[in-house]
Amino acid sequence: MGGAPVSGPIPPQVDVLVVGGGLAGHAAALAAAEDGAVVLQVEKQPVTGGSTVLSAGLSAFAGTDEQAEAGVQDSVTLLHDDILATGFHKNDPRLVDLYCSHQAETYRWLKALGVRYGNLHAAAGQSVPRSHPTDTRRMLDLLASRAAELGVQLRTGVRAQHLVREHGRVVGAVLEASGTAVEVRAGSTVLASGGFARDRALLDKFAPQMALALQAGGAGNVGDGLRMAWQLGADVIDTPFIKGTYGIYPLPHDGEHGTGIHAIYKGGIAVNVHGKRFVDESLPYKVVGDANLAQPDGRSVQLFDSRVLRASDAAVPIFDFEGRRDSGILVEADTVEELAAAMGLDVAATAATVAEYNRRIRTGEHDELGRVHLSGGVGEIFPLVEPPFYGHLSGTVVLATYCGLVVDRALRVHDVLGDPIDGLYAAGEIVGGFHGAGYMTGTSIGKAGIFGRLAGRSAAAAASGVPR
Ligand SMILES: Cc1cc2nc3c(=O)[nH]c(=O)nc-3n(C[C@H](O)[C@H](O)[C@H](O)COP(=O)(O)OP(=O)(O)OC[C@H]3O[C@@H](n4cnc5c(N)ncnc54)[C@H](O)[C@@H]3O)c2cc1C
Repeated sequence: MGGAPVSGPIPPQVDVLVVGGGLAGHAAALAAAEDGAVVLQVEKQPVTGGSTVLSAGLSAFAGTDEQAEAGVQDSVTLLHDDILATGFHKNDPRLVDLYCSHQAETYRWLKALGVRYGNLHAAAGQSVPRSHPTDTRRMLDLLASRAAELGVQLRTGVRAQHLVREHGRVVGAVLEASGTAVEVRAGSTVLASGGFARDRALLDKFAPQMALALQAGGAGNVGDGLRMAWQLGADVIDTPFIKGTYGIYPLPHDGEHGTGIHAIYKGGIAVNVHGKRFVDESLPYKVVGDANLAQPDGRSVQLFDSRVLRASDAAVPIFDFEGRRDSGILVEADTVEELAAAMGLDVAATAATVAEYNRRIRTGEHDELGRVHLSGGVGEIFPLVEPPFYGHLSGTVVLATYCGLVVDRALRVHDVLGDPIDGLYAAGEIVGGFHGAGYMTGTSIGKAGIFGRLAGRSAAAAASGVPR
């Protein structure tokens, strides 16, 4: 399939209408169809995929086959505690519980559909390696083809304009296709339209601190679903915690596909134009992203050596250092001084920073910025001594917004007075409350799959009792 355009007549009435063609939408549509619902799924872009297919494809699961094979000791309790710790305990504990109690079955569900996961990685907020990489386009295609077998009608190039509410209940939406507006009646409607990383106006409204940050993510992720729900009084949560991700190459370049790299998590350091480190590089990349925005021009350099380069993994974009070298993004030099000069950094200060970083590791003194590990609580830091040395100019990018609609355990959207809006569900990046004040790698793809599936099931169950 590969996200090919899907056309056809739009049915006037369905059990479940799903808005969005990323992972959350696909999971919701399939789960609703598995429970017997008649489903219409719409995607406003010409092809499905959204941010899901642009992502690094890492899902956070615990207790998996891949972890067992790699000898990784993980547990649902540790996952749970890590998510809360990474979110600075600002997370809605009900949603963290929901994720943790359904992650294993969702992982099995995806694997049963044919989804395969590659080599595990430890990344932001993880006490143990639990980032499971997968080919996200293939994952969506697997979900879509099973959904098609069950009768899900998927339409691309169809935009949900606004929700229709009668007697307090959402009864469908007005869709726009080829310039024509069509009303579709639905027993339940699931908003899975992603976040608003691409909408500068909403970022300025909720996250003015991101003024220097770049923007990435699905081209259609401009907050449509949020605005539709707000029109009906929906509540929103976690907006103060919008963060950017560290590591994107901030200049136009064919080799940058929006993910950046995290050489810092394999042993590199981050230095600003003055040649100074400014953050414990093992912290979650959103925290590093904030610290980076406070540096001159919101930019810095990930500086590393050949030992770090050897940790390159072409299957995981954020660790594909060799790919970046081959595409000409990395600056390479025989000495730290030459590297600093080539990148416009203060040469003497950069050399002194690297020397001091190395000295403290060798002598066992505390790192000046408190760094102990490579990433989170995983891996030992090591001196940067093996030439050639590499530099990656790095900015902060808003990839995803994470904040969003207030939902309950059934993924029903709640209004500003705390009451559910009947007939309206949400899943994926549009949902707030789960991440709290920080983000663990893999929990957004994870959340899209887990909550998408649960939203589809809730929506199907509710629709079956609605007379239309
Ligand atoms: C570069 C990058 C790397 C990332 N890496 C990771 C990672 O490794 N792990 C992780 O957990 N997260 C990662 N993320 C975040 C993650 O990809 C997203 O949060 C997640 O995929 C969101 O899934 P979703 O289904 O909610 O939204 P999306 O996949 O964005 O899908 C939403 C879809 O809804 C459509 N839509 C919007 N409005 C309408 C409308 N009005 N009508 C119809 N359709 C509409 C959009 O066009 C879009 O296709 C990354 C994001 C980016 C950009």
